[in-house]
Amino acid sequence: QPVLGVLGGGQLARMLALAAAPLGVKSLVVDSAADACAGQVAPLVVADWTDYAALEKFAAQVDVVTFDFENVPAETAHWLAERVAVFPAPQALAVAQDRLAEKTLFRECGLSTPDFMTVDTREQLDQALARVGAPAILKTRRLGYDGKGQFRLREVADADAAWAALGAQAPAHGLILEAFVPFERELSVLAVRGRDGDFRTWPLTRNWHVDGVLSMSLAPAPDSDVLQERATELARILAERLGYVGVFALELFVRNGELLGNEMAPRVHNSGHWTIEGARTSQFENHVRAVLGMPLGDTGVRGMSAMFNWIGELPEQTAVLETVDAHWHDYGKQERAGRKVGHATVCGIDAGALAERVQRVARLLDRQPQAQPVLDVLGD
Ligand code: ATP
Ligand code: MG
Ligand code: MG
Repeated sequence: QPVLGVLGGGQLARMLALAAAPLGVKSLVVDSAADACAGQVAPLVVADWTDYAALEKFAAQVDVVTFDFENVPAETAHWLAERVAVFPAPQALAVAQDRLAEKTLFRECGLSTPDFMTVDTREQLDQALARVGAPAILKTRRLGYDGKGQFRLREVADADAAWAALGAQAPAHGLILEAFVPFERELSVLAVRGRDGDFRTWPLTRNWHVDGVLSMSLAPAPDSDVLQERATELARILAERLGYVGVFALELFVRNGELLGNEMAPRVHNSGHWTIEGARTSQFENHVRAVLGMPLGDTGVRGMSAMFNWIGELPEQTAVLETVDAHWHDYGKQERAGRKVGHATVCGIDAGALAERVQRVARLLDRQPQAQPVLDVLGD
């Protein structure tokens, strides 16, 4: 029985393990926290990323290693890759870990990005602001997620506040100043590439963020027919350039009808959670298949799906359980402000059926503001 090794034991590892089981694949997860939520569904090795004695034992027990967490140190990934197959490869991971390398690659692949400039000192922040202009966002190049490690500058005079917030991280991680894009909408394309080069995408997903954290997703993104082909082509070029194996997400802004690249996640992604019930093969199952060299599954959809992210606390579950084709996911995590603790996916055969169920769930849970953007699109 093949064993999948997963670095990081959060909800992504948990959902990977749950998808691996029916394929006859066992999972073994590594996390530094003994209460990592994937540990509730798969055996857990408690170790940090430099505990090479524990990692040596782990490597000997698994057939392939993959990631729940993209910020595993590059040295750890390389060290493991000398002992066992690691997918995506450490070199691909390294590109996605650094916003500069990532944006540079996007541009080389023909995907435009927001204007940006790297910032290592307070003086360079002024120079970058002069070039990029305001409004802008200062981000750490490495280790940011869920909008952490970012500061939004409304005007040039916010430079001091931005530096006070992030300047201390410049020496270790580097910073990047990006132009703030007044986008019309945000999309992501979920893609998978197998060890044999087979490449597939799921239909584009439309996403809404609140305070830099994903709040709602809707798929297939309505009115995206013209963008689907372009997004798929860009994802394919990126995947081939990186020799990528597994699932990844490419986050996109749409401005004046054109795609701009925001970032890529070298792993299964929150905006693809709807694929568990809404697609013929979920992102989790296809990731397991890809990294183990199995044939990939059909990425077609069963209808339309909307996902509610539960941030900080779980709402009462009955409303979802009592709604037709609505699906509850509790990650088994401690509730904490800003933390992703679960999600719900609501499916329907068409926009009308989906809208009715989304409305029902939102009303019963008193979540109308969260669901409204989705309902506005479905109502069009
Ligand atoms: P995650 O990895 O969890 O998706 P992150 O911390 O890496 O998040 P980003 O994807 O860079 O963060 O930004 C989070 C959100 O903030 C974006 O999805 C978008 O809504 C907004 N945002 C980020 N950069 C820009 C920008 N240059 N212009 C406009 N909005 C932006
Ligand atoms: Mg990110
Ligand atoms: Mg993002």
